[in-house]
Amino acid sequence: MKKIKFFSGQRIPMEMHRAKVVQKLTLVDIDTRKQNLEAAGYNQFLLKNDAIFLDMLTDSGMNVMSDKQLAAAMTGDDAYAGSRTFFELADKIKEIFDFDFFLPVHQGRACEHLLARVFVKPGDVIAMNYHFTTTRAHIMLCGGSVVELNLPDSLDNSSANPFKGNFDLDKLNALIAEVGPQKMPFVRIEAGTNLIGGQPLSLENIVAVAKICRQHGILTVLDASLLQDNLYFMKVREAACKDMSIREITRAVADQIDVIYFSARKLGFAKGGGICLRSAELYDQFKELVTLHEGFLTYGGISITELASMTQGLEETMDFDMISQGPQFIAYMVDELDKCGVPVVKPAGGLGCHLDARAFLSHVPQAEYQAGALAAAIYLASGVRPMERGTISEARNEDGSEHFADVELVRLAMPRRLFTRSQIDYAVDRIHWLYENRTLIGGLRFVKEPKVLRFFSGELAPTSDWSDRLVARFKVDFGDSL
Ligand SMILES: *Cc1c(COP(=O)(O)O)cnc(C)c1O
Repeated sequence: MKKIKFFSGQRIPMEMHRAKVVQKLTLVDIDTRKQNLEAAGYNQFLLKNDAIFLDMLTDSGMNVMSDKQLAAAMTGDDAYAGSRTFFELADKIKEIFDFDFFLPVHQGRACEHLLARVFVKPGDVIAMNYHFTTTRAHIMLCGGSVVELNLPDSLDNSSANPFKGNFDLDKLNALIAEVGPQKMPFVRIEAGTNLIGGQPLSLENIVAVAKICRQHGILTVLDASLLQDNLYFMKVREAACKDMSIREITRAVADQIDVIYFSARKLGFAKGGGICLRSAELYDQFKELVTLHEGFLTYGGISITELASMTQGLEETMDFDMISQGPQFIAYMVDELDKCGVPVVKPAGGLGCHLDARAFLSHVPQAEYQAGALAAAIYLASGVRPMERGTISEARNEDGSEHFADVELVRLAMPRRLFTRSQIDYAVDRIHWLYENRTLIGGLRFVKEPKVLRFFSGELAPTSDWSDRLVARFKVDFGDSL
């Protein structure tokens, strides 16, 4: 995708693809949206998709496949064992990352499950630039703990740091000195750091982290789920990468890493996931777990059609035009909201546009889940489904007290190659209206609260009649119920 300059001087992000297949969307009126929200316990995960106009919950598995991917899917070699399609995928992994061994698994968190099972012992400490929900849960289930080594300004919206996903190298050195390398089986490097707003890390930082790890005999593990956006940012933000192709940048990253894993629901515009390994020894350890938990080694719980689409999708990930649609549309949305004064995470990252719910709803206490309340209000006002990424996404402390998140974000995910600019404009317009009327929005409280990953299935309710008041104001301002 290119940014093309118009007569007005404005640069407009242009999709370098055309839609060949479309799916009809429905936009239900605000009274129906309110009923849907109540039925879903004010939890975006429990809304039915029919009730949603623009689904910005997640990019996971929502990226749009290309004609070539669909064509590849049809030519997949459907076999339980020894499928040609698997070997073509393993060859593509070798070509792109130069890793000799590849194990398919059903999705990203399955990689995390197996990695934790192989590497993490009780008392181990896993360092990372920032945690991810499912990653941390699997490490903790194996008795390990997670330490985040993010930069001091990584969560600061006033900082223009282009690589907020970078590791703080001093913190890494200090941690190794404190706990000792024998308690640190690997350092996890997360590309396109999800929970701080899809913020990238630089190639320079990856090289530096890998060097420190090598000095201490600690493995480097790359969570490459969001690598696609991170590659784009390395190319456009990092001087050393400016003249490199995406393929060259990818190899430069991979060369620093011992184990790569990814969710193909994000990387590769497909479904599934995979673990890439360099050593036959490690491969043997993982093999048994894959056959036990995922499926046979040549399909790993993924359908052959998905394996075939993944191979083609990884090839498309090496194409700058194909991978820039996401970040450029996100930057457009961030800029438009910023112009209206709406507090957004800046600079724009990958995977989606992130609203700072703490600043947006500064009159709502954090204990009443600012991000959850704002996400619900957005659905009510627009039919757009965002995701809460704040305290609801955290687990309670062992004594049952609330564990407050560092940041209260509302993510408007931008699945790659999916939305059009007018759809983004609609979402911006409704969020702008909400911002103008933000004092009407109140908090939420739990009605049903599961113990594990409560954000997926917990049910909540408003702490006052604020949603009624918001609906009433909407009808006055818009003159009807849509
Ligand atoms: C989504 C994601 C995962 C988990 O992948 P799933 O396929 O959804 O299980 C892991 N790590 C990161 C960074 C992710 O963004």
